[in-house]
This record gives sequence, C-alpha cells and structure tokens, in this order.
Amino acid sequence: MRAVSNVRYSLAAVCLLGTASACNPINDEIQLTGQTQGTTYSVRAYCPTRQPDLHAAIDTELARVDAEMSTYNPDSTLSKFNAAAPGQWFAVPADMARVVVAAQQLAEMSDGAFDVTVGPLVNLWGFGPNGEITAVPDAPAIAAARAQVGYTHLEVRLQPPGLRKDRSLYVDLGAIAQGYTVDALASLLESRGCVSFMIEVGGEVRVGRAKPSGGAWRVGIEMPDPATLGKIQRVLQLTDIAVSTSGDYRDYFELGGRRYSHTIDPRTAAPVTHDLASVAVIAASTMWADGYATLLDVLGPKAGLEFAREHHLAAQFTERTTGGYVESTTPEFDRFVNEAAKSP
Ligand code: AMP
Ligand code: MG
Repeated sequence: MRAVSNVRYSLAAVCLLGTASACNPINDEIQLTGQTQGTTYSVRAYCPTRQPDLHAAIDTELARVDAEMSTYNPDSTLSKFNAAAPGQWFAVPADMARVVVAAQQLAEMSDGAFDVTVGPLVNLWGFGPNGEITAVPDAPAIAAARAQVGYTHLEVRLQPPGLRKDRSLYVDLGAIAQGYTVDALASLLESRGCVSFMIEVGGEVRVGRAKPSGGAWRVGIEMPDPATLGKIQRVLQLTDIAVSTSGDYRDYFELGGRRYSHTIDPRTAAPVTHDLASVAVIAASTMWADGYATLLDVLGPKAGLEFAREHHLAAQFTERTTGGYVESTTPEFDRFVNEAAKSP
C-alpha cells in the first residue's frame, strides 16, 4: 500500500491506453475509476448483464483489502498483528495468509532481498505511514531498525489461517498487496461473468479475455523518466495476464541532491543505489508480478536479470546510464513483445 503523502509519485507506472466510452452495460464497455490505498484505480469491463452496483462492490472489496493489509490503517488486521505481542498465533483472513505465504516464498527465493519485515526500515527512510523525512537517518537509527528486520522470525499457516512472530516485527505488505488487490477485483468481475476486463490499481495491471470485438487489451509501459512521466516506452497487446512495474522514478524523495528509492535493500538497510530505473514483470497473477517486480528491483540490473533468467520470468529492465536508458529483457518477455508485434 502506498503512502498518501507519496501519491504524487505513485500514480500508474503501467498506464492504460484506449479511448473513453460511455458507461453502458452488455457488451458496451463499463469504465469505473476511483481512489484507493493512497493511489488511483481504474476498471474497464464487458459484462453480460447490467451492473448498477459494480462500482459499490469494487469499493467494498477495496475497503476489505485495506482493512486487512494496510499499514496506513491503524485498525487493519496487519497493524494489529504488528502491534501484538510475539509468541502466539494471530488469526488472519485466509487470503491475507496466502499473500504472506507468497511473500515468504519470495523472501526464501531471494535470500531475504525481498522481505516484508522490512517495515522498520521503510518507515525510517520516510516511506511509511509517518510520511517523508527531512534528513537522512543516522547510523544508530539505521542499525536499530535493521535489527528488527528478518523474515525468518515470521511464520505463516493456512489451516487455520494465522501469523506468528518470535520477536517484535513490523510487516509491510506494500510490495505485494496492491497486486493481490488487482487479483481480488479480477475475481469479483469474473464472478459476475465480466470475463473481459482491464484492471489497474496504482500501476499494477491485469487484463482478462479479449474484448467482444476480438481485440486484445493494450497495456502501455511507461518511460521510467520523471521528466517525461506518462510517455510510453512500449505497448503490449495482452489477454489473461498481469503486468507490474517497480522502480525509482515514481516513488522516491530527494534530499541533498540525491534520489532515494522506496525500495529498500535489507542487506544494506538503505534504499537501493543501483541504476535500475524500472523493472516490469508479466505473470499470470498480479500478486506474483508485483512481488517479483519488487524483488528484481532490490537485486538490481545485474543480479536481477540473472534471477529473472534463472526463474524464467518475463521481465524487462530499464537501466539509467550516462548514454541514456538501456533495456534488457528475458526471452519470456520478448515472447510477449513479439506477440504484440504480430497483432493488428
Ligand atoms: P513496489 O512498488 O511494489 O515495488 O513496492 C514498494 C514497497 O514495498 C515499498 O513502498 C515498501 O513498502 C515495500 N518494500 C520496500 N523494500 C522492500 C523489500 N526489500 N522487500 C519487500 N518489500 C519492500
Ligand atoms: Mg511490488
């Protein structure tokens, strides 16, 4: 979940292309937009029946996820878990446990580069609910926050769904919960027969089946340049898939002429310093695309590309160099680009 205070930087990293159409049902495109989690969302869908309550149902679903997984909501299940004493199993909703299972898998795969217990460092560096900082934290403060981080101190179970910590922890699901939110909205639409859709929450995008006209959905990947925000780097024609982007060009702050990314490397206890401007991941699940994008962003352009190749991820890395932006892609990503090139 992204900070309200960061909202000026956290608009869609992957943006939607297409023309507006009237909000009419039954094979006319329904278009809905709104605010959630300190950012914006938009839904475009084709439905077999009229959907007068769809907007309200979407907002209810968004409120549910917020009430479960937001660290910006002091009453959320996650905030209560963070405040609870260690040692005991803490009951959580089943879907929240599944999100944490995925987060722990990402942590193990990356040897802790991805780590949702990174919350104390996220907060210390000004990317948490307490808002931006005005001075770089000093070494003792960094050491103190770092000592509280460690995914191996977090346990998750599905039956019955629960979390347990063996010491004080502050879990921040911001790297993965937005993707989960998109998947939850996709399930909501599908349960109503609206199987052709494009959903975007804060830059995480998922598309459903082709439009009734037969056309794929056009998803634009933005240039990772704060100077040209909104300029499209690449357009993909996609169906039944999700795209997520992580990087330092939207979510960052500047202090003393330096840019600080909201992606924290738990190994250095500081914002990442490599020159990866952006990484985009395409995957079947938005939750996984979101998690992998953050993971690759922590690893950086070199180790990240190696990880993506090894795990057969469809990923595109855009690195900032003195000679301009340099792109690297995996063969899996190239396949999507080639498909897009073949489309009319
Ligand atoms: P995203 O925009 O999906 O890349 O997620 C960025 C958010 O993930 C940050 O605002 C933090 O809340 C959280 N985060 C930062 N660093 C990490 C990390 N190393 N592992 C997991 N979550 C992180
Ligand atoms: Mg992410």
